[in-house]
Amino acid sequence: MQDWIMCESEPLPHITLPHWQNEGVALGFTTRQGGVSQGNYKSLNLGLHVGDQEELVLENRRRLAAVMASGLDDMVCCEQVHGGEVTVVGTGERGRGIRRLDDALPGYDAMITAEPGVYLLSFYADCVPVYIFDPVHRVVASAHCGWKGTMARITVNTLAVMNREFGTQADAAWAFIGPGIGPCCFQISPDLGRRVHDEFPEWHDIISTTGDSQYWNLTATNARILQAVGIKPDNIAICELCTACHPELFFSFRRDRGETGRMAAWLGLQR
Ligand SMILES: [Zn+2]
Repeated sequence: MQDWIMCESEPLPHITLPHWQNEGVALGFTTRQGGVSQGNYKSLNLGLHVGDQEELVLENRRRLAAVMASGLDDMVCCEQVHGGEVTVVGTGERGRGIRRLDDALPGYDAMITAEPGVYLLSFYADCVPVYIFDPVHRVVASAHCGWKGTMARITVNTLAVMNREFGTQADAAWAFIGPGIGPCCFQISPDLGRRVHDEFPEWHDIISTTGDSQYWNLTATNARILQAVGIKPDNIAICELCTACHPELFFSFRRDRGETGRMAAWLGLQR
């Protein structure tokens, strides 16, 4: 399996996968570096919904568009409500949620497109981004996997819609799990620990216990979910960088106690 790299090219360092790019897929995950926001949002905050100044966020988004070699209006954002709902987008949705928060596609946490030049954009500060690519039917999907989306198995829902709409077979699909909060830092309550155990009773090693504290490995859980639905382990790439452990690289909702910026995941088929 080929791995992710940190692309240090100016102006925005970002994580990407060369073997996906070689197949005509445009994808990346930003760091917090290279933007104009200040304070808790320093510097590349890409979230419009977190209390930062709108004009600074839009400048940050324009910088991202330049790195993606696209226009702002080629991107599509969904509301990200920590649910399990999936939508298919095309040219008609271009620009939704990019200049204004209130026209993001409402109620969705995963987006699918088969339209070259339409870029799925989603925002993160600890939740885990999952990217899916079907090289046979030329379809991509992006799923926001926080703990609620993981419990809702949103990636399974996503693959089901890709299959229904485009014929995607999981055993031919590729997946990339990007940076999120790691098992080092994602402490959970005993109640949530019980719910995770009830949802995934066969996977004993996704929660580790230290003294009275329980830690959940969201990345490993999502990798198991993808494998269980039929994606081959060799086709799953994982970036295990913990967003909470790397304050120089990433915003972290947990570490920064809620007042923080957002990184972005982007994914599209090159025109
Ligand atoms: Zn950590």
